[in-house]
Amino acid sequence: MTKQLTILGSTGSIGLSTLDVVARHPERFQVFALAAQRSVEIIFRQCQQFNPRYAVLVDDMAAQQLAQQLKASASTTEVLQGSDALVQVAEHPEVDYVMAAIVGAAGLVPSLAAARAGKRVLLANKEALVMSGKLFMDAVHEYGAELLPIDSEHNAIFQCLPSYGKQGVEKLWLTASGGPFRQSPLATLEQVTPEQAVAHPNWSMGQKISVDSASLMNKGLEVIEACWLFGVSVDQVEVVVHPQSTIHSMVAYNDGSVLAQLGNPDMRTPIAYALGWPERLDSGVKPLDLFATARLDFEKPDLIRFPCLRLAFEAHAAGGFATIALNAANEIAVQAFLKRNIGFMDIPRLVESVVQCAPSGTPNQLEAILIQDEASRQTALSWVKNKKL
Ligand code: NAD
Ligand code: MG
Repeated sequence: MTKQLTILGSTGSIGLSTLDVVARHPERFQVFALAAQRSVEIIFRQCQQFNPRYAVLVDDMAAQQLAQQLKASASTTEVLQGSDALVQVAEHPEVDYVMAAIVGAAGLVPSLAAARAGKRVLLANKEALVMSGKLFMDAVHEYGAELLPIDSEHNAIFQCLPSYGKQGVEKLWLTASGGPFRQSPLATLEQVTPEQAVAHPNWSMGQKISVDSASLMNKGLEVIEACWLFGVSVDQVEVVVHPQSTIHSMVAYNDGSVLAQLGNPDMRTPIAYALGWPERLDSGVKPLDLFATARLDFEKPDLIRFPCLRLAFEAHAAGGFATIALNAANEIAVQAFLKRNIGFMDIPRLVESVVQCAPSGTPNQLEAILIQDEASRQTALSWVKNKKL
């Protein structure tokens, strides 16, 4: 039966890869809704190709422009505007699957709405789990949603775990490429530019996650994501730097076995796996050439070079308010770095200061989560202005 699919963040890197996979399986998937912030041209072309029932743009002006263009092209797609419309297309009764691929905290409310509506949620938006792990996982269980990880590491772990329970699982190994600055002299990191930071050696991704990969905050967010997704403690998760990005992550068992998932670094693999699960679908990804790969290297992560990874472990131990603060501060810090208002190594400085202001404990209501998110953003903005709190 054809599945109706909503794609939140359709104009981004994950959104484009999702549509590439979907286009290979027109008999299986129909695009019900596409949603993005303001990229009129990209979403217009996507509407022409996939003819969704709805197209959502959060930005009002952009939505009006899209509506005019679609009308002129005799399209039947209806344009909705504003962030409430994201929720509307995520929880719509006719929708089966929701790809949650909005970047940052903006993705939390619609991703949670999809979980509360009992959808299959393909979760790329790791920030949602970092902010609301317990609340989100409780919603998944309470409303019978199917949560499938899109993040390549978590998708790999999902593939390597037993199909029932976690019997015999000792440890989850999260692989990290180490980003573009793995070997740069430490002293040069203060001066690196946004262009250098977003030039990831193996993966092509959106700007925010590219900077997070360079600071290893991405791996820190993923450690927290793994704890929530798989119900493990932080001591059961270990990060290993693996510069080739061929092994996407591993599960170690009590009998000494380590299961790994390998492949070319292309997000269409985890996307196709989550769309097709439990079946396998053609994704368009080239087969892995082990002879060309030749080597698999492993290193311990350097926490002096990458303080963001340490900060994420500490925040997770401190509780939910701290991880909300970590995420909010990081989003503001990355934006400020991309605008050249702060340096690369100011990112961990800012994040550490803001996390220290967070109360202890974990909020269990969405409203309290959003209030803490906003408060930490304000604190972070004042750090950007004064270079201290
Ligand atoms: P991107 O910047 O390329 O795309 C972001 C998408 O979100 C765009 O469609 C944009 O319009 C939309 N968006 C941004 N702000 C919005 C808002 N306020 N309201 C509605 N829509 C908004 O990002 P990406 O690289 O595709 O990453 C998306 C998510 O997937 C992130 O959470 C990222 O961490 C995660 N992820 C990405 C990759 C990857 O390879 N790109 C891998 C793993 C996980
Ligand atoms: Mg990842």
